[in-house]
Amino acid sequence: MTDLPPIDPANWDEYRALAHRMLDESLDYLRDVRARPTWTKMPDAVRRTLADTAIPRSGRGDAAAYDDFLELVRPYPNGNIHPRFWGWVMGTGSPQSAMADFLSAVVNPNVGGFDQAPVLVEQQVVRWYAELMGFPATAGGILVSGGTMANVLGLAVARTARAGWDVRTEGLRAGPALTVYGSTETHGWLKKSCEFLGLGETAFRRVPVRDDFTVDVPAMAAMIAEDRAAGLRPFCVIGTVGTVQTGASDDLVALADLATRESLWFHVDGAFGAMAALAPHEAARAAVRGMDRADSVAFDLHKWGYLPFDVAVLLTREDKALTDTFAMQAAYLAAEARGLMSTGGIHFADRGIELTRSFKALKVWMTMRAQGTDLLGQHIARNIDQAAYLATLVRAEPELELLAPVPLNLVNFRYVAPGHSAEQLNALNKEILVRLQEDGVAVPSGTTIRGAFSIRVAITNHRSREDDFDALVAGVLRLGRELARR
Ligand SMILES: *Cc1c(COP(=O)(O)O)cnc(C)c1O
Repeated sequence: MTDLPPIDPANWDEYRALAHRMLDESLDYLRDVRARPTWTKMPDAVRRTLADTAIPRSGRGDAAAYDDFLELVRPYPNGNIHPRFWGWVMGTGSPQSAMADFLSAVVNPNVGGFDQAPVLVEQQVVRWYAELMGFPATAGGILVSGGTMANVLGLAVARTARAGWDVRTEGLRAGPALTVYGSTETHGWLKKSCEFLGLGETAFRRVPVRDDFTVDVPAMAAMIAEDRAAGLRPFCVIGTVGTVQTGASDDLVALADLATRESLWFHVDGAFGAMAALAPHEAARAAVRGMDRADSVAFDLHKWGYLPFDVAVLLTREDKALTDTFAMQAAYLAAEARGLMSTGGIHFADRGIELTRSFKALKVWMTMRAQGTDLLGQHIARNIDQAAYLATLVRAEPELELLAPVPLNLVNFRYVAPGHSAEQLNALNKEILVRLQEDGVAVPSGTTIRGAFSIRVAITNHRSREDDFDALVAGVLRLGRELARR
């Protein structure tokens, strides 16, 4: 064999010095995040380098690669760690959870299964969250990469449990067309999942919402009855805690009653909203009421859990529901009485779609142990208070208009100028939004609410302070006046 340069550091002392520099500079970067713009557009030269660099056939060394990162990458992310980032729904992360991710990658275990501590760590955080969400001790769960993944797996479990025939063996063709019911405000994961699972988009029966953007439950019941009469096979009811547009939460008690009456699976998408279960807050209590009656709940920890991407949880009321859908028997994965394949641990690969699985549980476990779930709940409650505060600022300002109720942590509003048509107002507010982003002042995102373009502020950010919302309102008023004058 020829003597190759190692993949590990050739000189550990030299690499140790570089690694310490990386850590120190990363901590400075996080400590000083507030001093930087929320978002910085990439210069053309950076864009070109990232697009056009040829395959690096021979390496330039660790220090040069780190310099490339500092020059080309770190200054130009989408900005979600910033205190004035409230776009879409994203989380912020923290230095401690970033360090936990590093420690996880250092140990680099395969958490698909095996008799090992990392498996028990994941099982423990799943149990803790099951308890926090009001699920029984028989509940099962798994960490996955995001809300979309947790929801699609939940829908697959629902399909296996309630199709009425053996979908795993026979496939969808062996029975009538399956249908699932969710409001028109349901996040895009449901359409994608119906397509992905082979149900087809038309399997998603879109139920109208009421004025407060929550699902019209009697309308859902009527659709289910009509579909049954037409020979379709309803299998699942979807409720949302915290819709992506306005933060509305469906009446989960009524949906649970309906699902029970109709023998349907009840799945809750609580991507960010489920985390309200941790908050000592009346609005939060109201949002999650009835969630403990769901058959499955999906929620992100990388949004309102403030952890770095990507991590989310799927919980099922019964652990068996997960293995009924995902367990497979492979000779090379057979359990043994002793050794690494002993059943001392829980086989997570039998509870989801992935075989090899990362140790994302470590950042969940370490931050829960370090900070406690009470503090997490207090920050979630503060975000709800901040949304109420922003809504108060908007209501107090005649040039601003609130476009939807604010039941949780999302605020939709716009700038209004006299003498502008509906289209002009939409164009004006789109321009205000883009200018806020380009100037680096703040990053809300946009949406359209009943025809009106809305500046949408989703607060899942533990770094935001009250004066950040003052700055946002001042920025919108300044830009609105400037642009309306033209
Ligand atoms: C963000 C979100 C999702 C999707 O979660 P990802 O982690 O982005 O995949 C689903 N539903 C709602 C309500 C969301 O806000």
